Amino acid sequence: MSHGLENVKEQMDLACKEAGRAMQDVELIAVSKRFDRDTIMPVLETGHRLFGENRVQEAQGKWPELREQYSDIELHLIGPLQSNKAGDAVALFDVIHTVDREKIARALKKEIDKQGKQMELLIQVNTGQEPQKAGIDPLETKEFVNFCCDELGLLIAGLMCIPPVDEEAALHFALLKKMADELGLKKTSMGMSADFDTAIALGATYIRVGSAIFGARK
Ligand SMILES: *Cc1c(COP(=O)(O)O)cnc(C)c1O
Repeated sequence: MSHGLENVKEQMDLACKEAGRAMQDVELIAVSKRFDRDTIMPVLETGHRLFGENRVQEAQGKWPELREQYSDIELHLIGPLQSNKAGDAVALFDVIHTVDREKIARALKKEIDKQGKQMELLIQVNTGQEPQKAGIDPLETKEFVNFCCDELGLLIAGLMCIPPVDEEAALHFALLKKMADELGLKKTSMGMSADFDTAIALGATYIRVGSAIFGARK
């Protein structure tokens, strides 16, 4: 049924062994964006519970129903967030990986307080300094993390990046890990289907894998 998931887990196991890391230190987020319930179900049936979606609205259409069947699902938002969707995002997701500006941090703070929900957040870093890409500039990250933690009292667990498509991902993973270490943050969200083994070698604690588990997106 879920050969993709099995293969990914085998590859994770190998990458962890080679890196001298424990398998339980790397969490696999099955990225189910643009896959429907029938494709997600077999993966849930294997016992996997950690999933990622990149759009609030799409996730709202799928996951409340799936959660009625599997109450222990953990759902992560890995795509860009608009501040007018902050309330919906806080209500639906367990972890948000894409906090990258003051406005969204403030909106999340307000909703987290209002909903009384303690929530783990990650800061998205634009490691390639690409003008069109979401994420905070690496040079502004320290100040932003301090703002989120000290001024807003948000629970910042780590950093996330999406490397530029035409560059060596390893350089970006290494930079993100170095930044997280310097800031005393434990978690790094990096690595997708094509490069999660490299990300594991460089210290990823969350890998975000879609097509290698579910097949090609239409
Ligand atoms: C879609 C997506 C992934 C998964 O990509 P695959 O190549 O299908 O593994 C990971 N991270 C983010 C932010 C995504 O949007």
